[in-house]
Amino acid sequence: MNYYYDFHIHSALSPCAEEEMTPNNIVNMALVNGLDMIAVTDHNSAKNLRALWQCAADKPLLLVPGIEVESLEEVHVSCLFPRVEEAEEMGRFVGEHLPAMKNKEEIFGPQYIFDEEDHLVGKEEQLLLVSTDLTVETIFSAALDLSGCAYFSHVDRDSYSILSALGTLPPSIETSVVEVSDTPWGRQFARQRKDLAEKRFLYSSDCHRLADMSQKKNCIDLPEITTRSVINWIKDMR
Ligand SMILES: [Zn+2]
Ligand SMILES: [Zn+2]
Repeated sequence: MNYYYDFHIHSALSPCAEEEMTPNNIVNMALVNGLDMIAVTDHNSAKNLRALWQCAADKPLLLVPGIEVESLEEVHVSCLFPRVEEAEEMGRFVGEHLPAMKNKEEIFGPQYIFDEEDHLVGKEEQLLLVSTDLTVETIFSAALDLSGCAYFSHVDRDSYSILSALGTLPPSIETSVVEVSDTPWGRQFARQRKDLAEKRFLYSSDCHRLADMSQKKNCIDLPEITTRSVINWIKDMR
């Protein structure tokens, strides 16, 4: 069955996201847009996923716990996990590989942590909008080791993408899926790049405000709507 998705959404934990990106607002916007499943992938952190998971639990929406990790090479890698626990474990690992730098709210923006009722329960002090010292290979294998999966984010973009950094997909990483921006030029890019001809594409919004979340447009065919099923699709274990 086809299920509609947006697998690249930032909560207000990401300093570049709007303050309106609270757990309830994200879940309700996804429902208004007619989506069946979303992944929230904050920069280098999993700290709003538990609230999001609880928020989506009694709604007809699958929350796939995710993190967007920035590699040593300044490449963004989307990592998805079966449960919040594995995502949090990845978050701790990633946190150990960030430079010890405090967020400067006035420059980067606040990094909000919420509970499931959108109450502000804290702010992340570690600067999240920065690269880790992890190679892309290490990020992919860490996600796999935690029963998750990884794929390159927004490969059509001129910055923070594997193709802008290296010019090509590294042969050291086996991946059958790449993410492309959910835009007309993203689709055009996906059609034109000969080196992506064998790949399957995930189109996602990378939204930092509610209005930019994908509409009911992009779907994948899954045997059932579970996080495991999504991860198997990405790992080509259908
Ligand atoms: Zn990114
Ligand atoms: Zn992003």
